[in-house]
Amino acid sequence: MKMNQLNNNCYYFSSSVNVGYVHEGNNGLLIDAAIDQSAIRKVVRQLEEAELPITHLFITHAHADHYGGAAYLKKHYNVKVMAPKLEAAIVENPIIEPIYMFQGNTPVGELRNKFLEGPPVEVDLVVDEGEQEIDGFHIEFISTPGHSYHQLALATNGILFAADSYFGKKELDKHKIPYITCAKDTIESLEKIKDKVYDGAVPGMGLMKKTLKILFSIILNITKTF
Ligand SMILES: [Zn+2]
Repeated sequence: MKMNQLNNNCYYFSSSVNVGYVHEGNNGLLIDAAIDQSAIRKVVRQLEEAELPITHLFITHAHADHYGGAAYLKKHYNVKVMAPKLEAAIVENPIIEPIYMFQGNTPVGELRNKFLEGPPVEVDLVVDEGEQEIDGFHIEFISTPGHSYHQLALATNGILFAADSYFGKKELDKHKIPYITCAKDTIESLEKIKDKVYDGAVPGMGLMKKTLKILFSIILNITKTF
């Protein structure tokens, strides 16, 4: 979990699943919460050492590797938790994922692990796409369904925190087929964000890039083969 500063306001912590961070005055917004308490503690320890505040958390989508550390943040930092609709319902009731992975039946024990079901956390604010000002943060939420039903990417201060709307090449080489709920939505989400201009973009998994177009062309080619 190496801390990387992107500009005056934006940072990200690089790991197998990246965590974003935005600083505005006395407030600090984490973007996703890593897979568990141990992983997110590595993030908050570095923020505390840098004397940066921890007041808000935005969960981009309800996959446990992105919200598993959220309950720890809520308990110890009383963060204001924000999440997109439906995703919010799952992080508040995490057994929903093992249930839908098991066709709506009572899930077998093998599906009830920390990769599919994190500790539940109460969501304070359900958010939707569009530009918004929240407690001093100037945010554009961008709807990027396809990897999950209501995933939102977050753009602020010239940086796109893209969630799992695309993956780094290394991750694609490793997993071959990215997890998606809908190929059509995935392609449309990629098309939507590839033409937007940012100083940089941080995917949920993979390296931060200054330009997205090369990576997107690779992913679009892969996805369109389905
Ligand atoms: Zn995901």
